Amino acid sequence: MDNLSKLIADSSATLSRIASDFSPAVFASSLAAEDMVLTDLILKSKLDIGIFSLETGRLHPETLDMLGKVKDHYDGYEIALYKPQPEAVDAYVAQNGLNAFYDSVEMRRECCRIRKVEPLGRALAGNKAWVTGQRRAQSTTRAELHVQEDDTAHGMVKFNPLADWSEEDVWNYIREHNVPYNALHDQGFPSIGCAPCTRAVQPGEDVRAGRWWWENPDSKECGLHMVDGKLIRIKSVVA
Ligand code: SF4
Repeated sequence: MDNLSKLIADSSATLSRIASDFSPAVFASSLAAEDMVLTDLILKSKLDIGIFSLETGRLHPETLDMLGKVKDHYDGYEIALYKPQPEAVDAYVAQNGLNAFYDSVEMRRECCRIRKVEPLGRALAGNKAWVTGQRRAQSTTRAELHVQEDDTAHGMVKFNPLADWSEEDVWNYIREHNVPYNALHDQGFPSIGCAPCTRAVQPGEDVRAGRWWWENPDSKECGLHMVDGKLIRIKSVVA
C-alpha cells in the first residue's frame, strides 16, 4: 500500500469510528482543500457526520461558490450554514465601523467572536464530537496536533483526521479523486478565511502569512481552536 493509500485508510477508519462511537458528530468545514478531502471521504461513505460552515457574511465569492459545487458534485448535498446574530453584527458595525478589525487586535477579536466563535458554539451544541481539517504540517504551532484531542473549551472530543497528511497528500487526493476545490487556491491562497482578512501569499511564504497580516504573529487566532485551554493559531475558518 502506498503512503497516500495508507493515509486514506487511516483517515477513513477514524471517520467511521467517529460516526459509530461519537454520534452525533459534526464536521466544521472552511471549504478549503483539506476540508474538501474530508467532505469527499464522509459523503462517499455516507457516514453519519453532519457538515457545516460558518457563513460570516465576509467570505469571498469563490468560497461561497463552493456550496453550489458541493451540491452539484455530491447529489444535492447541502452544507449547513451558521451565521452570526444580525443584531450583534449591526451593533458592532454601528459602533465601530464595518472594517474596525483593522484598528486593533481587540476589535479584530470582537469581530471574530461575533462572526465565528458564537456561531461555532451554536453549531457544536448537542454534539459529542467535532471534526476539523487541521494538519500537523501546517505550522510549527501545530507540531503537537493529534488525530484525537479533548476539547475542554467545548466539552467534547475533537478529531483532526488529516493530522498526518502533507499539503502534497491533500492535493494528490483532490486530483486523483476529482474533488471540487476553492478557486482561491489557484490564486495564491493556501488558507481560506474572511475576504478582508485573507490575502494571497508568495511562493515559500508561511501558509498563515496571508491571514491577519497586519497583526503581530502572536495575536493571530480567532478563538475557534483551543488546546488545553489555550488558544492556538488557526488555518482558516472555520478557521
Ligand atoms: S476574520 Fe476578519 S472579517 Fe472574519 S470574523 Fe474575523 S475579523 Fe471579522
